[in-house]
Amino acid sequence: MRRNNPGADNLLGQVIPVLDKGSVCLVDYWGDDTSVVEAARVSYGKAADVHDVEGNRRLINYLMKHDHGSPFEQCGMAFNVKAPIFVFREWHRHRTASLNEISGRYAQLPDEYYIPAPERVQTQSATNKQGSGDQCSEDVTEDFRINVEATGMDAFAEYHLALTAGVSRELARIVLPLNTYSSMRWSCNLRNLLHFLRLRTAPNAQFEIRVFAEAIAEVVKAAYPLVYTAWVEHVQKAVTLSYSEVQCLRAAIEFLRGEGWTYKPEHWEAAKILTKLRKAA
Ligand SMILES: Cc1cc2nc3c(=O)[nH]c(=O)nc-3n(C[C@H](O)[C@H](O)[C@H](O)COP(=O)(O)OP(=O)(O)OC[C@H]3O[C@@H](n4cnc5c(N)ncnc54)[C@H](O)[C@@H]3O)c2cc1C
Repeated sequence: MRRNNPGADNLLGQVIPVLDKGSVCLVDYWGDDTSVVEAARVSYGKAADVHDVEGNRRLINYLMKHDHGSPFEQCGMAFNVKAPIFVFREWHRHRTASLNEISGRYAQLPDEYYIPAPERVQTQSATNKQGSGDQCSEDVTEDFRINVEATGMDAFAEYHLALTAGVSRELARIVLPLNTYSSMRWSCNLRNLLHFLRLRTAPNAQFEIRVFAEAIAEVVKAAYPLVYTAWVEHVQKAVTLSYSEVQCLRAAIEFLRGEGWTYKPEHWEAAKILTKLRKAA
């Protein structure tokens, strides 16, 4: 029997704004927290008790903690997403979702392109080759934003000129920049959706996709509260340690317990653990 999910129902059709002109909107879903429990209990021939919230919470935590992923595949969501093309380029790498995107061959693309907010105009990070660092000076910020705007206007002017001159839509669109907004219907089961959220809500994900992932995370939180809480606890805020880091941490705890100092960790190992712990907390 199909179960209603009031948390998801409340959000169905609500357009959540993201960036300057983007959005996510939940258009469909299947399952709720109990669906996960129900799927897990099939293994041992028992039905789920919707009223046993504490028992369900414990089982969901157990599944999440021990990476028993398949019961989470019994739930899922579909969204309409409007985002810049460079964000979709990262998003589409998540192969375990299904999507359909507006076709610039069939339809004329609307004149919409992303202009970063002033506080987003940042320098190249000194420590992360893929990341951004401090905010740029006011002059650089203003010049950059003016250039982004002018480039978008010029590109769309060329696009319209080409279309008016009779150039086909599929070819005319090649003058448009990567910050042009595009739209897609994106659906994903909950297991793969949480994997997407783990990678794209992480601090090292690019800001522009992270804000979309954060908006979707809020929808997941409302629709699957027990799953979401277990995911934050055991996945999103959890930390993986290498073997060397485990040895280092073990030695430190043994030392604190007065069991002597048995391991000589390199300084960078301790520093790496600390960085991981600080990032997660
Ligand atoms: C911060 C960050 C930086 C990145 N930088 C780059 C970059 O510089 N260059 C670049 O090219 N990409 C980059 N990526 C993309 C990244 O390599 C992945 O392609 C993307 O995150 C999708 O992850 P996934 O493959 O785990 O997800 P999905 O495609 O959704 O797959 C989910 C899981 O299914 C399994 N799976 C799916 N397909 C296969 C398969 N064909 N074979 C085996 N197992 C499979 C895997 O277990 C996988 O983890 C970056 C991603 C992040 C988050």
